[in-house]
Amino acid sequence: MVWTWCGWEPLQYYRRLGGFHEAQEGNALWADDWSALLDSEECASKLADAGINWVTTHFYKGFGLEVEAEEIAATERMIANYHRHGVKVFTYIQYGTTMPETVDDGPWPRVDWNGRHDGHPYEYGDQYWRAKPCANQPGFRDYLLQVVERAIGIGADGIWIDNLQADGCHCEFCQTAFRAFVQQEVHDPWCELGLTDLSRIAIPRAERTRDPLYQLWIRFRCAETRTSLRLLCDRARALKPDVVTAVNIGIGNHQRSVIENGNWIGNLDCVDFTYAENGLFPAWTNGRLVTQHGAAKLAAAAGIGLVPGAGCAPGLRTLARVFAESTLFAMGSSNGPWGLRGENGGGAPLYLRDGSVRQMTAALAVFHCGLHAQLRGSRDAAPVGVFYSLESQGFDEASTRQALDATTQLLLQNQIPFRYVLADRLTPAALTGVRLLILPHILPLAETAAAELQTFVAGGGRLLATGRCGLYDERMRQRRDYVLADVFGVNFSNDFEAEHQAALLRNPMNGCLFMPGEWGLRTPANAPVCELPGDRLVAAIRDAFDGEPAEVFCSAPHVGCELRTLVDGRLWVGWLNYADTPVPGIRMRTPASRWQSAAWCRADGATGALRSVAARGVDEWHLPPLSIDLYVTFSVGDLPDDDPR
Ligand SMILES: [Zn+2]
Repeated sequence: MVWTWCGWEPLQYYRRLGGFHEAQEGNALWADDWSALLDSEECASKLADAGINWVTTHFYKGFGLEVEAEEIAATERMIANYHRHGVKVFTYIQYGTTMPETVDDGPWPRVDWNGRHDGHPYEYGDQYWRAKPCANQPGFRDYLLQVVERAIGIGADGIWIDNLQADGCHCEFCQTAFRAFVQQEVHDPWCELGLTDLSRIAIPRAERTRDPLYQLWIRFRCAETRTSLRLLCDRARALKPDVVTAVNIGIGNHQRSVIENGNWIGNLDCVDFTYAENGLFPAWTNGRLVTQHGAAKLAAAAGIGLVPGAGCAPGLRTLARVFAESTLFAMGSSNGPWGLRGENGGGAPLYLRDGSVRQMTAALAVFHCGLHAQLRGSRDAAPVGVFYSLESQGFDEASTRQALDATTQLLLQNQIPFRYVLADRLTPAALTGVRLLILPHILPLAETAAAELQTFVAGGGRLLATGRCGLYDERMRQRRDYVLADVFGVNFSNDFEAEHQAALLRNPMNGCLFMPGEWGLRTPANAPVCELPGDRLVAAIRDAFDGEPAEVFCSAPHVGCELRTLVDGRLWVGWLNYADTPVPGIRMRTPASRWQSAAWCRADGATGALRSVAARGVDEWHLPPLSIDLYVTFSVGDLPDDDPR
């Protein structure tokens, strides 16, 4: 999928809003002409020239199907125009807000604990005329199902659900549904909640993540978004079995998705794609890698693809990196620049007026679609996994986020490929090829998850845990000892932690690593500080995965590296330079005599073979200088003459 935005807001929205919005002069007096241009065959044909084969366009914004009928009819004509040029169309469906001023049913507004429904999180920021609806009120989901039916009815190839959220509501329907949820989930009210009777509980009024009822409210809202998503996707598939579904939960942005929005990544497994509305265009900035790695690989852990955000600045390098990341992280989708904005004074959008941008996008699209075809059915060969759980994201979010951020930057900047492993699917399939699983500051750990981790270690896997890992159960109730004490070969006490604040303990029985303690040191920004030098930690991590399936040596922290195993068993390695200076001297090591040949290719059409040198039980391979991106395939036997890849 090579995708771009194509006017996802109806003109009605821009008129009601007034003024400039998201780089678009949407309420300009020339906006009607611009919108008609986007709907036209001319636009479809130019996008097809640029290699773009999917777009997302306006359909339902929450004003109501009747009120939006005229623009929906325009979308229907547009879909027919686009189909004539082989471009498929996602129709935009707003889940997260409705407009009380116009919606012809509803608007099912959320209610605060005091009966009011103004301000955050009950209105959409300063767009006070957009109310956030409550999914538990009768009629809301039924209305959206009608919206889905209408979308399929006008020929949509995909549905694109925006702002899937459950920010919380205290209406009578939510109170009743929540009480029923708690009664179903709680088996021993006295032990779990300190209550003898659940009939008078109500939705919590304060955000306190150690409150057991608040924890249940987080789970309740995660179940609410899951239910909605399943209903909408099931209906769409019932009407059109090959429909493609996408949902935006703002993955990778500043929001606390579990606590604020009731979104757990594992719940998205019923859609095909999630959308990265997070502004993370690949770059090297202030000593950090800015990347879609986290969003893409969390999506992959849930078994779905990622549509990367479309950028406004269509520089060649940024565009090349966006395409490269989509291939590296096997997103299943890439995109061109957001080049369909009406320009000042109503000038033609970039994609329509500039043939060189179309050509540049088309060349990248052809190259990367070829790589995507090669990668079809491949699997992540990263030797390192990073543990990710609803409990730590929901009940210990701030510390978890800091630890996760520090861990992922350390791994990325040292070219240690890793994937995410979700706590609610610690399956053999998810752990295939994972030699080291890192638990970054995971305080809450359920007995069931701990048992699965023990099985992983018994089968030869290794763990690296930081902080008071598993000292709490999945409800943040403290245990007497770390739940994985036997795996790490140590026991909890305050004295033990005080003595080992800066230690990296290794259990000689199984190679598992533990950095215990509460980590008293803090940065001026109040982030916990690890006293262990990064290079020592990196050396321990490399040691734990033992050079499998490859080891990488690169002097630059702004280089990304990914490993995949192709369907035919070959090893595939993708490289991406996030900075503008070329990086020479990158080396790789593979186990001795496993691969006889290796070939590389680049988006500019250049190809070549790598030479290997046998050294101390490994084969060493030297890469050509890395300008932007590079792809290497290792094979058994010599390369066929006609296929440099
Ligand atoms: Zn409600």
